[in-house]
Amino acid sequence: MLTDYHVHLRPDEDDSPADRYFTAANADRYREAAAERGIEELGVAEHVHRFVQSLDVWTHPWYRHWARDDVDEYVEFLRASGLKAGIEADFLPAREDRLASLLDRRDWDYVVGSVHFLRDEAVDFHGYPDWEPWNIWRGADPEKVWARYFETLGEAARSGLFDVLAHPDLVKVWGSRVPVPEGDLRRFYDRAMEGIAESDVAIEVSTAGLRKPVREIYPAPAFLEMCLEAGRPVALSSDAHVPEQLGHEYERAVELLRGLGVEEVAVFERRARRLEELG
Ligand SMILES: [Zn+2]
Ligand SMILES: [Zn+2]
Repeated sequence: MLTDYHVHLRPDEDDSPADRYFTAANADRYREAAAERGIEELGVAEHVHRFVQSLDVWTHPWYRHWARDDVDEYVEFLRASGLKAGIEADFLPAREDRLASLLDRRDWDYVVGSVHFLRDEAVDFHGYPDWEPWNIWRGADPEKVWARYFETLGEAARSGLFDVLAHPDLVKVWGSRVPVPEGDLRRFYDRAMEGIAESDVAIEVSTAGLRKPVREIYPAPAFLEMCLEAGRPVALSSDAHVPEQLGHEYERAVELLRGLGVEEVAVFERRARRLEELG
């Protein structure tokens, strides 16, 4: 079984309205591309900030910029299309209850949880002039950013809000374009591990990092190894934003997983998880 659950039906660009991308024809394009690549389980996880309802959770300028669509219409569309229904939601400390009320009253197959923001600043905004005030890398000490990032990731796991922890070491996304801590990175991973070990969350292995400046799979093998030791299952995704990216470089992900003795991947249905043989 191969899965692709962390999938977007449109690019992260302005002028990408729901009525152009949340269509039966577009769903078919994704379904066909998935079938060609042997992906049996296909689901969509649109960013929470694309929905007007997210403004009840947070009113950050990033959310205000994007929030246009109706989340219930989105879920209805996915149910009608036969694609698994997911969402990619930010973990925002102190806003757990607000996010829970957005999530709890909708019929998801799974919820993907991401740490993009540390307070008001994002780890993945580097190099976008419009968003520079919210770029965490402006003069930041990488030791502090990485420590805060992994602490927040552990809290995200512990929150119980999410079925899958997305791109778990996203903080590395820019590679050497931003300062990177030196030495053994496990001192940072340790900060997330207690929360992860005490949670029931699946750890996403994402090939999206191969398309980013870092050119690595998320997460690093050492991080994944620690999660496996903590008994966590693995969810496999590409974070595709166009059909051509579905299953992107999965050979490398499968090789990584087999090398670490992983033989099963998580499959989700109406927020229940089971394991299927990887392959
Ligand atoms: Zn993300
Ligand atoms: Zn995503």
